[in-house]
Amino acid sequence: MAPLPDLPPPRSKYGLDINGSSWKPELLSEEDKSIEPLDFNHLGMPYRRIGDCAYPPFCKSSVVQRLHSDWTARASDVFLVFPAMLIPDGIVANSVALIEQARVESIDLTFPRWIDGAVSRRGWEYLDSIESVSTRRCLTTHGPPWLFPCSNSGVILGDEAPSTGSSSSQGAKQEEAAVTPRIAVFVADPRYLVMKEVGLQRVVAEGWLGTAALDDSTFLQSVLGGGGLEGIGPSLFGGSIRNSAAWAEAEARCPDRIRLFFIDDFVTDPAVAMGGLARFLGVSELSAATERVVRDSVRVATISHAQPESRRVKDLLRIDLMEELTQSFESLIANAPTVMQDAWECQLTRWLQSPNARLNAWAYSALRHEPWNPARWWATHSARVCRPCIFFPRGKCTDEECGYCHGPDHPKPKRPAHNRRKQRRGYARTPSPDIKYRLNVIAPPAPALTGWDMPQRKDSYDSPGSGASTGPPSGPPSARSARTADRWSDIVDDQ
Ligand SMILES: [Zn+2]
Ligand SMILES: [Zn+2]
Repeated sequence: MAPLPDLPPPRSKYGLDINGSSWKPELLSEEDKSIEPLDFNHLGMPYRRIGDCAYPPFCKSSVVQRLHSDWTARASDVFLVFPAMLIPDGIVANSVALIEQARVESIDLTFPRWIDGAVSRRGWEYLDSIESVSTRRCLTTHGPPWLFPCSNSGVILGDEAPSTGSSSSQGAKQEEAAVTPRIAVFVADPRYLVMKEVGLQRVVAEGWLGTAALDDSTFLQSVLGGGGLEGIGPSLFGGSIRNSAAWAEAEARCPDRIRLFFIDDFVTDPAVAMGGLARFLGVSELSAATERVVRDSVRVATISHAQPESRRVKDLLRIDLMEELTQSFESLIANAPTVMQDAWECQLTRWLQSPNARLNAWAYSALRHEPWNPARWWATHSARVCRPCIFFPRGKCTDEECGYCHGPDHPKPKRPAHNRRKQRRGYARTPSPDIKYRLNVIAPPAPALTGWDMPQRKDSYDSPGSGASTGPPSGPPSARSARTADRWSDIVDDQ
């Protein structure tokens, strides 16, 4: 494992802890107080307004903006993006282990990797420290694409022309891929993401206000925003639904370097999901280290660096509560006022219009209030190792238990050309011996016969020699048998 660099210490204790007690204004440095005044949301809690997003109050607008415009990441760097807080430890530990080709247990989860937070707390010197790392680096962020903490993210925003299409831009695209870092964005069922935001707000508010009197619907309101709920201030990191939708746009424009990963898959099929992540990160698939990470990935949900006593923080870090959290969300929204239900549907519209098919599917599922129960082919489909069902795209397979992939975007299998189909008519299924007699079929070589019920009566063939039933005829075939021989080869090629 690569040795971790010495970091400059945090400049103040402000915001060191998730509990509100560490966000007392008197802990702020003089610089923070004078240059960047805090904003307060409708619950009276402090936040930092950066662009149109809320950031935790220890983040500095100047730092986020400067990282975005001035700091250049290395092409070998990897960014893990989490549109909702907190960052699941298991995902970070496994990703770092893959990148560093190290054991998962050896990864120090207390090392600050959240770059916006670390530079805000420790100053620009943090970047000098990580500059000394000569191996691949893994950093995290929560930021939306438009505030991404490096200047060479490869993100193309809505008003810029995407660099696809002409052949001249192909070269520019490859050049760009050579200098931009890899960005893995971790999203999940939208109800799960929102409940993570609700959970974080609750933990912070209880620490800040010193009371547990507020209920989840208060926080839900603050997370959903919009749709008549204006006045509650901007959402944290732009809101996980909007933030994820923006990342899906970025992925569609730069698919080689930016990819969405689905936390659900790391719960339902961790080895497949981890294998997909390893391939995206560009690490050796065959190394002992990668194999170990993939093999041990079933433990991804149990990894946590939180202190045993902070149960609520531990809960926020968990990734295996998909079912419970989507249920909790459904009961919250069912009892919410219409204006909040409208705001929720409005948020989901971003996912319905997304270029990412899985975000579409989740949004539809959430609109229909379906329980969390992802189709089992999603994990292999998203990891790009699925075996597509050839009947599904034609609407000919509705079997829930079908072992093949019913995922989106698989091409419809091509129909053979008309005369090819005409030729195959009568051969498409196992011919009965009678038909073969009539057509004067010559037996193909032995291996191709497997499963075919060939007639054993030698006298039925017009070709000479006793070996006729196990191979092509040795003598010159009649014109008729030569034609059928060609057809046989057509059929065998097609299998
Ligand atoms: Zn598939
Ligand atoms: Zn099927």
